[in-house]
Amino acid sequence: MSRFVVDCMLGRLARWLRILGFDTLFDCKLSDQELLNLARSQNRVLITRDRELAARGGYLLGAKNWEDGLREVIKAFHLEDRINPFSRCPVCNSPLKKMEREEARVLVPPLAFARASRFALCPGCGRVYWDGTHLLRMKNILNKLGGGDEK
Ligand SMILES: [Zn+2]
Repeated sequence: MSRFVVDCMLGRLARWLRILGFDTLFDCKLSDQELLNLARSQNRVLITRDRELAARGGYLLGAKNWEDGLREVIKAFHLEDRINPFSRCPVCNSPLKKMEREEARVLVPPLAFARASRFALCPGCGRVYWDGTHLLRMKNILNKLGGGDEK
């Protein structure tokens, strides 16, 4: 299973799951019951650090910080081969649409535009993404996940 709904206290984890391309719902307005319902009706894994909630039908995250948490989730659900960065909006979870360089020219700050080679638009919230510092940071984190050197 590689679709998730993430408890309100794990916002950073939710954002990073999206950055890695995984369909992840996150909304602090949702009650515990609504989280459980969503997980069941949409076939999602509910990730929480709340023991009681996990016992009612979720995955209890053991890691104490978001980076370890991300690593833990990737391992637990065997996501290593399904990572597809730059494919989903970290803010609203919509699948991103690739943009041609020329389309992006007027939407991206000139310096970033000059350096970036990939551009994408979020049809959900209208944000434009490019492979700047954001993507670099993601690569660093992926490298630190250490999945590559495990046999
Ligand atoms: Zn968006």
